[in-house]
Amino acid sequence: MEEKQTLICDRCKVEMDLIEAQFSYLERTFRHKVPRCPQCGQVHIPEDLAKGHMSKVEAALEEK
Ligand SMILES: [Zn+2]
Repeated sequence: MEEKQTLICDRCKVEMDLIEAQFSYLERTFRHKVPRCPQCGQVHIPEDLAKGHMSKVEAALEEK
């Protein structure tokens, strides 16, 4: 089941799109769905991802 939660971009006040992003961490890559603002491109990293070891993750966005 997929969670449907909509987030609003702080800057643009528009709904963020859910996109699949590729993360790199310690030479490993994995994918995770994250909300991204269609206007400014800001990505919201969910709390569970941002916590702890994921805090320095860089998201390489891949659009398909
Ligand atoms: Zn925005």
